[in-house]
Formats: sequence, C-alpha cells, structure tokens
Amino acid sequence: MLPDDPDHLTAETLDRYGRFINPGLQKLYRFANVTSVEWDARGAVIRDAHGKEYLDCSGGPAVFNVGHRHPKVIAAVQAQLERMPMSVRALPRHLEAELASRLAEITPGDLQFTFFCNSGAEANEGALKLARLVTGRVEIVGAIGAFHGKTMGALSASGRETYKTPFEPLVPGFTHVPFGDLDAMAHAVSARTAAVILEPIQGEGGVVIPPDDYLPGVRAICDRAGALLILDEVQTGFGRTGKMFACEHWGVVPDIMTMAKALGGGVVPIGAFTGRPHLWKALEQNPYLHSTTFGGNPLACAAGIATITVIKEEKLAERAAELGVYFLARLREVARRHPRVVNDIRGKGLLIGMEFTDPDIVLLVTAEALQRGVIVFYSLNKPEAFRIAPPLIITREQIDRAVAILDESIAAAGALVVEMEKEAQPSERL
Ligand code: PLP
Repeated sequence: MLPDDPDHLTAETLDRYGRFINPGLQKLYRFANVTSVEWDARGAVIRDAHGKEYLDCSGGPAVFNVGHRHPKVIAAVQAQLERMPMSVRALPRHLEAELASRLAEITPGDLQFTFFCNSGAEANEGALKLARLVTGRVEIVGAIGAFHGKTMGALSASGRETYKTPFEPLVPGFTHVPFGDLDAMAHAVSARTAAVILEPIQGEGGVVIPPDDYLPGVRAICDRAGALLILDEVQTGFGRTGKMFACEHWGVVPDIMTMAKALGGGVVPIGAFTGRPHLWKALEQNPYLHSTTFGGNPLACAAGIATITVIKEEKLAERAAELGVYFLARLREVARRHPRVVNDIRGKGLLIGMEFTDPDIVLLVTAEALQRGVIVFYSLNKPEAFRIAPPLIITREQIDRAVAILDESIAAAGALVVEMEKEAQPSERL
C-alpha cells in the first residue's frame, strides 16, 4: 500500500532534511531532481512513495547481496522479534554462538574467533585495537584510496585526505602507501608495524583490483616482519566478488578479517571481525576489554545466520561470478559507445566500477539514471567513478534493462556536457 498523499510526504521529508538533518543533503537530492521518498522493496527492485520502480544496482552499497527482504531472512528475524529481540547479556546467547561458528566455517584458513559489533567502522576499530594489543606495537600501514569507515581509528586507516584533514590530529602511528605497490609496502612495514590493513579490492576507491601477486606478497611481507594482516571484507564479503570472500581469489588468509554490510541480509545492521585463535588469548583474561552493548544481539544474529544459509543454498557467490562477467561485458560495450566521457570500466563478480573523465559527469549520470529508474552509487574516495553492486539475485533481464538505461543516461549526461562546454566558450575566449 502506497501512502495517501505522496507529494505531501515528499515535500515534508525534504523540508525536514533541510531543517533537521542537513541542508547539504537536501540540496543534493534537489540537484538530482528527486521527487519522491523511498517506500518499499523486494528482490532487486525498490519503489518510491509514488509507486515508481527502480532497479537497485547499488545495493546499499553492497548491503543487499541476498536481495531486499529475502523471505528466509525476514522469517528468521520475525521469529526472533516475537521471542526476544535484544539481549540482557546475563545469559549466553545461542544465536551469537551459532553465527560465530558459521563464520568460522565459511571464512578461509584457521580464522575461528569472532567479535560482533554493529557496523564496518566498528569492526575495523576492534581489529586495529586487537592488533596493537597482541603485538604490543603501535604502527599501522594502510593504503591510499582505502576506505575503512569514519570513526577515529577507521578514519586514520583510510586513505583520502578530504575526509581526514578536518578532524586532525587523528590517531598516531598510521602511514599509507599506494595500493597495489609491493615495493612501497615492503619499505613501509618494519619491526614496529602492528598490522597492515587493506581491502582486497578497494570499493570506495572506485573498485580497484590489485595485481595478482599483491595480496600474497603483502602476506609474506607481514609474516617476515611479525606484523598482522587485517583484510577488510566489509564491502567485498559474502559472495559479492564471485567468492564468499574476495581474499579467496588470491588464496590469502588474513590474521583478522572484518565484515559488515551484507552479513545482516539487508534487514538488521551487524558488523564482525574474525581472527586466528592465538590472537584471542589477549582477550581471554578480560573478555570485556573490548565490548559493545548491541554486538551479537539476537535480531542481528538471526539475520546473519539466515543470510549465510541463503548465500550458500542459492549459490550466490557462483551467481555473482557468472553474472559479473556478463554485466561487465555489456558495460564495456556501453563504454565503447561513449569514449569522450567514460575512462575505464572494471570489476570482479558483481562489484563493478565505471570511471568517467570528470566527477561532475558521475553526478549527472547517476541523476539521469535515477530519473530513468536505475540506482547506482558514487564512490566516496574516487568521485570520478560510480559503483555497481546490485543484489546477487539480479536476473540477466534486469541487467539488460540496467545496461540500456545506463547507456541512455550516459548519452544524456554527455549531451549536457557538450552544451555546457559550448556555453562556456565565449567567456573562455575573453
Ligand atoms: N570498510 C569498507 C571496505 C567499506 O566499504 C565501508 C563502508 O562503505 C566501511 C568499512 C565502513 O562501514 P560502515 O559504514 O558500516 O561503518
């Protein structure tokens, strides 16, 4: 059922964004010609309050791997909601224990113990703290262009100055090297390094896939220096890139893996980090050395267990691998038709980045695509690129529709740019 007066609801919502949330966001929505609010969703399609449908090619981003409102995830969460949604934490929680055991099963190598939290940033905070605790060292090496979240520690590990400079001084001890450059990593890591933190594929960096020898090389560098390797699979995890976890493409097992986004099935937020058994010795004596009120709550764990079950039952990682090849090939055709504005197209599985000549074109194309009923998402650390990270249950027909609409949207944005350039010419001649 749609709302009775969607125009009023939209106007009121935008007005409240302007007065109570952030006028900047209100301006962004107005720039994108947004004329409705999101209302409901199913599978790979969301509907606005006016009943218009949008194909979700952004997935949150990368949250809705099992699709919006997967019936099995909804059923598991609803059953738990009826019994006990939140925990008093005085007694052990069986769903938390079950989800931890499922994560030990599906993560590579000997990753075994899990700490649950509520977001990706929190997962990275915990992983960084654990690395310092276990090694007794302070320094952390991260990558330029990386995104690990916006809390102080996660932000310090991230690699784009725009989001960091206004908050300095950040946490001391962090250095950054170019992603994909093994020599730079070898120089940066020393006997003082507690950990290296990397995304196996940079997501917010615009979908950057490292050379094949990179992650195995970083693993070896860490081992030589006695430093831990933290892999942030917050965006790449749970089937997104065609494997359950992206590090499996290169056969690399981290010491700590961080997760969030898709783990909650797009129904309940949850974050987690899973590590090798010996690391948890440092947390054994005082299990509350690192803690959070809502971590491991029953609703989130019910969602997580059901989500993992669905990903395995429906073979969604395999599906992402197959459909990713198809989507990428179709988008390459699109890119060839618009050489003036499209610089590059790249991806692994259903995590795809399309890079343009200018960040303004990205804004124009995403706005045009939204008007035509396809949602794609800009990249926080690479404004020249948008990301495509649809639900892994998307169909070939839906991909074909998305490709056709993106083609039209790029053409429309390209035409606007040509117009704007023409208009700019007289003043440039002065
Ligand atoms: N790590 C990666 C790789 C991410 O892509 C993100 C979010 O986009 C985060 C961490 C932060 O997650 P959250 O927004 O849940 O704090």
